[in-house]
Amino acid sequence: MGLNTVNTFDLSGRVAIVTGSNTGLGAGMAVALAAAGCDIVGVSRAGPGDTASRIAATGRRFADVRADLASIAPVDDIVRAAVEAFGRIDVLVNNAGIIRRDDALEFSIDDWDAVMDVNLKSLFFLSQAAARQFVKQGDGGKIINVASMLSFQGGIRVASYTASKSGVLGLTRLLANEWAAQGINVNAIAPGYMATANTAALRDDAQRNDEILGRIPANRWGAPEDLAGPVVFLASSASDYVHGHTLAVDGGWLAR
Ligand code: NAP
Repeated sequence: MGLNTVNTFDLSGRVAIVTGSNTGLGAGMAVALAAAGCDIVGVSRAGPGDTASRIAATGRRFADVRADLASIAPVDDIVRAAVEAFGRIDVLVNNAGIIRRDDALEFSIDDWDAVMDVNLKSLFFLSQAAARQFVKQGDGGKIINVASMLSFQGGIRVASYTASKSGVLGLTRLLANEWAAQGINVNAIAPGYMATANTAALRDDAQRNDEILGRIPANRWGAPEDLAGPVVFLASSASDYVHGHTLAVDGGWLAR
């Protein structure tokens, strides 16, 4: 690692895969990584939306990969497409995720499986596919999982989401334990309450909105841009000795 602290955040020439890069937090993280120098492989179901033009505006390259992470069938193809596009991969951001809400007494098998498949099963097997590529390349890599406040807390009416995001925190530690010695950093970002489609239902409910805001010391919902610094840090050599950590980016929510 160089002695110039600022340059350790430089991602020039690196290649990052970001799942769910078409919107919300994934779009924010993809644009931030590009602004720091990464070429971006954006994984989406229906196309990249304005993420492709936002990446182009940073001067970096963008590869559009279509995949449905409701199953693990596409994971090897995602890594293969990234390597075909840009020759290698350096960073994987496992951001794609869904939430289903219902009382635990009523919670359906479908709402359980759908959330666990995208948020946990595909995250694990895409990490495995990426790590196999990192090992083949021989010079390490960075995996950044997207966890949640419900990696630390129980939540309410979101059984499969809490199970999946608590699982993300555990898997982040397990994968760090297994892969740290090979120069692969596995860490997670736990966003607090961020204004995206994922939380529209909460923000539309005036009572829940007030309850949540009243507990955030920063006194505002987070924005995708709030993840820019943390994701660049965890993707860069500035974090080379950070392994298995879940970094809350929550306006102070967990401090309350
Ligand atoms: P969002 O706006 O709903 O975006 C979710 C992303 O995941 C979209 O790109 C979506 O693609 C993608 N995705 C969902 N199912 C997929 C599938 N089967 N295959 C491929 N991609 C799929 O929500 P967000 O808030 O940005 O959420 C991003 C991540 O942050 C999630 O893991 C979420 O749990 C986590 N998170 C969010 C908050 C928050 O407050 N917003 C807090 C903590 C954690 P489509 O557009 O095709 O559906």
